[in-house]
Amino acid sequence: MKKRAKITISGIVQGVGYRPFIYNLASSLGVLGYVKNIGSGVEVEAESDEGTLRKFVKRLERESPPMAEVTGFSVKALRAGGYRSFDVRKSSRDGNKSTLVCPDLTLCDDCLRELRSKKDRRFEYPFITCTNCGPRFSMIDNTPYDRERTSMKKFAMCPACSREYSDPSGRRFHTESNSCPSCGPELALYRKGRKVKSFDPIGRVVKLIRGGFVVAVKGVGGFHLVCDAASDRALASLRRIKGRDMKPFAIMCSEVSDARKLCRIKSDELKLLKSAERPIVLLEKKPDAGISELVAPNNKYLGVMLPYSPLHHLLLGRGLKVVVATSANLSEEPIISRRKHLKGIAGWVLDHDRDVVSSIDDSVVRIAAGRASFIRRARGYVPVPIPLPFKSSVKDVLAVGAEMKSTFTLVKNGLAFVSQHMGDLKGPGAFGHFKSTVAHFMKIFRVRPGIVARDMHPEYMSSRYSKNGIRIQHHHAHIAACMAENGLNGKVIGVALDGTGMGSDGTPWGGEFLIADYRGFERFAHLKNIALPGGDMASLEPWRMGLSYLYSVFGDDLSKLKNLPLMKKVSAKDVKLIATMIEKKLNSPSASSMGRLFDAVSAILGICLKNSYEGEAAIRLEHSIGGKTKGFYDFDLIESSGPAVIDPAGVIRGITDDFPSKDIPRRFHNTVAEMILRVCSLARERRKLNKVCLSGGCFQNRYLAERTADLLGGAGFNVFVHRKLPPNDACISFGQAAIASSVSA
Ligand code: ZN
Ligand code: ZN
Ligand code: FE
Repeated sequence: MKKRAKITISGIVQGVGYRPFIYNLASSLGVLGYVKNIGSGVEVEAESDEGTLRKFVKRLERESPPMAEVTGFSVKALRAGGYRSFDVRKSSRDGNKSTLVCPDLTLCDDCLRELRSKKDRRFEYPFITCTNCGPRFSMIDNTPYDRERTSMKKFAMCPACSREYSDPSGRRFHTESNSCPSCGPELALYRKGRKVKSFDPIGRVVKLIRGGFVVAVKGVGGFHLVCDAASDRALASLRRIKGRDMKPFAIMCSEVSDARKLCRIKSDELKLLKSAERPIVLLEKKPDAGISELVAPNNKYLGVMLPYSPLHHLLLGRGLKVVVATSANLSEEPIISRRKHLKGIAGWVLDHDRDVVSSIDDSVVRIAAGRASFIRRARGYVPVPIPLPFKSSVKDVLAVGAEMKSTFTLVKNGLAFVSQHMGDLKGPGAFGHFKSTVAHFMKIFRVRPGIVARDMHPEYMSSRYSKNGIRIQHHHAHIAACMAENGLNGKVIGVALDGTGMGSDGTPWGGEFLIADYRGFERFAHLKNIALPGGDMASLEPWRMGLSYLYSVFGDDLSKLKNLPLMKKVSAKDVKLIATMIEKKLNSPSASSMGRLFDAVSAILGICLKNSYEGEAAIRLEHSIGGKTKGFYDFDLIESSGPAVIDPAGVIRGITDDFPSKDIPRRFHNTVAEMILRVCSLARERRKLNKVCLSGGCFQNRYLAERTADLLGGAGFNVFVHRKLPPNDACISFGQAAIASSVSA
């Protein structure tokens, strides 16, 4: 007696070789029926005798191709249908249901071997892929995943490629990105917008890079600007092009051994570096790394990645060992994915005709406290969804995030799709990119938001984009994001330390201790407010914060501080000006901001008076940690009827007394960790809570993150940090989405 079953599988099951896998399994067992992609995943009908059918279903349940991720599996018994074969059928859509989309995949080892084999018909072919590797998300225009809905649509497969495509025994069976030198995309070299004839464009580019030129090279999610990492001249011109004075550039190393010459690599860092996601990994720079100081000036770390596309392997396989490979863009603008937008940025361009549908930057990750911690989440990770830890509403949600390091999040059926890094929305190109990417995500995931959530800040571009959205407090969103990533429900102690975000009372907050759940929060404690002389200028120019703190502690009596580096570097006129601004409350909003306290200390010590990129002063303060002191400075925790207040006056006094001790940076960091411990202990006592969530840009500071986790852990707290998203404002949209989903749940 024949039996038939319909099996529906959801998750990341399209573009990862699922259909070929099922076909082969069915063939090996003699099962008849079909497999096809549907809107929500993969659908199989299987017909066989009862024993075989059971075996088939069992194996399907247990096994899957390496890059697949199954989240749903259902089986329904049907009456026998009289199948005569097992087929891969044409995809169909099933209404409003959405499927997961596979992120872009790193070149696999099999393809790498063929790429290097003279006998292979794809020898040195820059677009080699198979069912286990190649671009996915970045070239998908819509779902279900089929060639006609990708940027490979315009390349018709040649007979040899078609044969592979329909050969179930091979690695390219139903590989939608399949192509070869005779039918696929082509490389082309351009100079100042004109095509340059060359039989060996890669060889030519290698020569140009050796010669100190900056070349734009189209990769997976857009163009990189590539140059010789040892050439000061090339780096200087790259910095000129990008309008970046100091912000570090990432490098790409041909092999792990090349990276080892530059950096210390621990085993968990190596794993991350070689992982299928191939992010940029922040590694500790060795003293004489042998690359230009201009790659990462004043920085203890280097951002390093390994080649992830066949083109990278070809470029770096010709004697180039270490190159700078930074996203081609202007400052905080989105990565450029079309040649025409490179005008004025790169004279030499190595382009190809496989279009990038969704531009996406490289991800940046570091190991902190023994765990991967995101600085930027993009290629390799997006658009894998993060599940919400509670039963969510029937309504879809769009959360538009904050403004700097922006992302947005869509929620459908309890799954949160967090976008790639969108940059600073104030930039002219970024906002357009944001809007079109929102539309793209809504299309491919079939989301029609019934609820929109946004930040309280009325001036954020994202808030203007969704004026009528639910307004969610910035630091509440930070904590909700950390909670949801960690699967937490119920109340927690939330520690949100960042630059500033709009508070519920309309003043800027940024040194926040909240008792929070998804539904709401109580401001339990905060860092004492301080004047930000010049408002936004104060975050660009840490010297203003240095003076503001000194003035708040010593008043007009600043003359005895003339030995402090800050006092030597600022003019008497500026000191006077800041004092007047604070006294008369001229453009000096009062804020609670941990980020600004870091800025102030960095400036007082003369480490960084002006930021050339966001967070520079704090980063350089962290990097100047020396010595071994476990000591910390005095501070007050003042309880009152409202939130408790942490007064750091003792810290400022302590630092000026200590100067010029080399221990100051470490002692200061220890103090902040101590503040967190003391407030959390008070919260535990008062509110009987033991779970602590840490969020906010300040926790990108590795020393602070590790020290805080140690102290809290030692005191018996259950500490949760971000694991899937960065602690900075890139997590805000996800937090908003969690809060909005719980409101409507
Ligand atoms: Zn492959
Ligand atoms: Zn072909
Ligand atoms: Fe923030």
